[in-house]
Amino acid sequence: MCQGPRLRLLFTPGEIDRAIAGLAAQIDRDYGGEQPLLVGILKGAFVFLADLMRRLSIPVEVDFVRVASYGPGMESSGQIRLVQRLSTPVRGRHVLLVEDIVDTGLSLSFLVDYLGRKRPASLRLCALLDKPERRVVPVTIHYLGLTVPDKFLVGYGLDWDERYRNLPGIYVVEGD
Ligand code: 5GP
Ligand code: MG
Repeated sequence: MCQGPRLRLLFTPGEIDRAIAGLAAQIDRDYGGEQPLLVGILKGAFVFLADLMRRLSIPVEVDFVRVASYGPGMESSGQIRLVQRLSTPVRGRHVLLVEDIVDTGLSLSFLVDYLGRKRPASLRLCALLDKPERRVVPVTIHYLGLTVPDKFLVGYGLDWDERYRNLPGIYVVEGD
């Protein structure tokens, strides 16, 4: 049998859904009359982005970037590199970066710099989860769902060595 780590439920699907409904209401209000480009950060944010966009009433476009920061296991390598670029021109666009969780802030500050150089009309961040205790570089999260403790989390797009992304809730990994 494949014995995994113990997982402790942190947020139920209902709690996640309520947080997303709140974010969508703010985004609808702030971007009324615009057609923002939602940029999901692969792989983790795809589940959140899929639910968030279906909660929005405004017209949106979607694209993805992928950065690599975490190697296998739970420790960040601290090195950020872009492994998938945008396929949409962002010059003059209202860009909303959509991230699953902000941890050290290194990937987001890298992406804000990368996208900012492409001269978007505006650039904001939306994150489902924030782990503020771990921050190394400051990032401004314009739309934040839930603040979480300094624990390793899985589920709802978040993986542990590619596993558990499909869990509908968010769990703390309690060690092995
Ligand atoms: P940062 O650059 O802010 O340190 O890292 C952000 C990325 O690290 C997130 O998009 C996510 O992919 C990964 N990450 C950070 N904290 C966690 C966590 O608790 N669980 C998982 N599975 N990934 C995390
Ligand atoms: Mg991520």
